Amino acid sequence: MGIRALGDVLIAAVEAFAFYPYCLLCERRLGRGRDLVCADCWEALPPAEPQWLRGEDSDFQGPPARFSARFSLWAYSPEVERLIHLMKYRNRPGLARVMGRRVACACSHRFRGERGIIVPVPLHRARKRERGYNQSELLAQELAREIGWSLVAEALARVRPTRSQATLSREERAENVRGAFVVRRREAVQGKRCILVDDVVTTGATANECSRVLLEAGAAEVMLVTVAAA
Ligand SMILES: [Zn+2]
Repeated sequence: MGIRALGDVLIAAVEAFAFYPYCLLCERRLGRGRDLVCADCWEALPPAEPQWLRGEDSDFQGPPARFSARFSLWAYSPEVERLIHLMKYRNRPGLARVMGRRVACACSHRFRGERGIIVPVPLHRARKRERGYNQSELLAQELAREIGWSLVAEALARVRPTRSQATLSREERAENVRGAFVVRRREAVQGKRCILVDDVVTTGATANECSRVLLEAGAAEVMLVTVAAA
C-alpha cells in the first residue's frame, strides 16, 4: 500500500470516528448527515395524544390554561425522557437543534402565513451560565427559522431561581413558579400573538405563569409549543 493510499485509509478511519457517531438511543452507527438519533428510533417515538389541544381543553385539573392552544410533538416515553435529559443536563445543545427542527416541521403549517413572535421560556441567569445554553431558546430558534416569526429571546426573564419541578406536586409547582417571570421586552410583546416554547409541559404551571405575564404585558394571544407532553 502506497503512502497516499495508507493516508486515505487513516483519514477514513479518523472520519468514521469523528463524524459518524452512534445513535443516542440504540447505539447503532449513524450514517453521514444523520441527526444524532437513527431513523428507526425517531420513527418509534410516540406522538403526543393529541398533539394539538385548545387551551381550554388542556387537562391540568388546576386553574384554566392562559394559553389558547398547545402543540406537543411527543408523549413522554422513556426514550423521549432520555433525549430531553441529554439535551438539558448532558451538554447536548445540538440535540436541542435537531429536536427543534422536528417540532418546527410538525407544527409549522398552523403558523405559516400568520405573524407573531416566538418567546422561549427563560432559564434563570445563574442556571444558563452553568449550562451554557437555554435549550428552550435553541428550540425556539429552529421554530423561528421554519415559520418566519421573529424570535424575541429576551422577552421574558426568570427573576427568581426555581426548584426543579420534577419532584413537586401540582400545587407545589404552581407555587414554585409564581412571580418567577417578568416581561423584559414589553414593547416587543404588546399586541402580538406569541408562541411560547418550552421543552416539556407537565402540569402547565410554568407555561401558565409565563402566559399570564405576557398577557398582562399586552400580548394578544399566547400559544404553547413543546417537545413533549408528560
Ligand atoms: Zn437508534
